[in-house]
Amino acid sequence: AYREPGAQAEKPNQLTRRVMVGSVPVGGGASVAVQSMLTADALDVGANVSQIEALAEAGCEIIRMAVPRRSCLDAFEEVCARSPLPVVADVHFDAQIAIEAARRGAAKLRINPGNIGGWDKADLVLDAAEAAGIPVRIGVNAGSLDESIARRDDLSLPQKLALSASEYVRHCEQRGFRDVVVSAKAHDVMTTVRTYRQLARDIPHVPLHIGVTEAGTRFQGIVKSASGLGILLEEGIGDTMRISLTDDPVNEVRACWTLLSALDMRRRGPEIISCPTCGRCQVDLIGLAERVEGHLRTVRHPVKVAVMGCVVNGPGEAKDADVGVACGKGSAVVFRNGEVVRKVPEDEVVGALIEEIEKL
Ligand code: SF4
Repeated sequence: AYREPGAQAEKPNQLTRRVMVGSVPVGGGASVAVQSMLTADALDVGANVSQIEALAEAGCEIIRMAVPRRSCLDAFEEVCARSPLPVVADVHFDAQIAIEAARRGAAKLRINPGNIGGWDKADLVLDAAEAAGIPVRIGVNAGSLDESIARRDDLSLPQKLALSASEYVRHCEQRGFRDVVVSAKAHDVMTTVRTYRQLARDIPHVPLHIGVTEAGTRFQGIVKSASGLGILLEEGIGDTMRISLTDDPVNEVRACWTLLSALDMRRRGPEIISCPTCGRCQVDLIGLAERVEGHLRTVRHPVKVAVMGCVVNGPGEAKDADVGVACGKGSAVVFRNGEVVRKVPEDEVVGALIEEIEKL
C-alpha cells in the first residue's frame, strides 16, 4: 500500500495510492477532491466552457464531460484546451471514443468495463490511457453488473458490486496498469455505504470516487448524498466525491463543500449560522438569511456569519461568529469579533454584514 512519507496511516484514504488528474491529486492522503459533471450539449463548446468556469468559481476541482458519439470528439478536444479544470471523458459502449479522448486532452477516462465491449476493447483503452499518462476510473453500477456475478445467490448486492470492481482492478494491475480509481455506486444510500466499506477492505490501495448515484432532485439528492457520503467520509473512505443532483451542477459543488465543511474536513467560503425563527422573531429572517447567503457566494474566506432572529440566542451566537446580527423589531445589532459595532435598520442588515466581513 502506498503511504506518504511520514504520514500517519489512520484512515483508509491515507493508504490509497495517489493518482493525478491533471494537477489535482486524488488519493494517498490528499484532500478529498470535489467534482461534478457538465450538463450542456456535448457539441456546444461555448456552453460547456461557460459551465466549467461557473463550476470552477464555485469550487469544483475536476469536471467530467460525456462524450456520447465520435462526432463529439472535436468539441471535447476544444473544451479540454479551454478548460481551467482537468476534464474527464465519460465514455460508454465505444472503446474507440475513449482511446481518442485520451489522445485529445482528457485528464482521465471514466469507463464501465462491463459495457465497453469486452476485455480486448477495455485493454486498448488502458493502453491509450497509459500512453497519454492519465488515470482511468472504473465505474461499476448496480444496473450493469457482469452476468456471472449478478446471478450469484451467495453474495449481497454490495458484495457483488465490490467483487466486480475488484476483478477489474486485478485485471488492470495484471497488465501493469495501476493508475486506477474505482467507483461502485447505487441509488440506495446504505447499499452505497456497504459497497464502499467492502471496497476499502478488498482493494485498500485503490483511490475511491464516492457518490450516491441518481440521488434525485435538489432536496432529496442532497439529503441522500450527505447521509451516505457523510458516513463514508467520517470513516476515512473516499478520495474524490460527487453529489449527483437533478439540478444545476453548481449546486452539486456547493453541496460537496457544505458537507466537507460540516465534517470539518475542508473549508471554503463562509458558514452561515441562522436560527429557524419562531414567534419571537420580528423581522423577515428567512428572506434576510437568503439575501446574506446570496451575497456571500462570492466570498472565499472561511468566515462564520450569524443571522439570528431575536435576543434569546441571537447575541450569544452572533458573538461566537466572526460577524453576526441579532435582530429586534425592525432593526438589528451587528457584531464583529464578539463586539457590538453598530445598530442598523432591517433593510441595511445585509449591506452592514458585507461591510463588516470586508473589514476582517
Ligand atoms: Fe426564535 Fe430567537 Fe431562537 Fe430565532 S433566536 S429561534 S427568533 S428564540
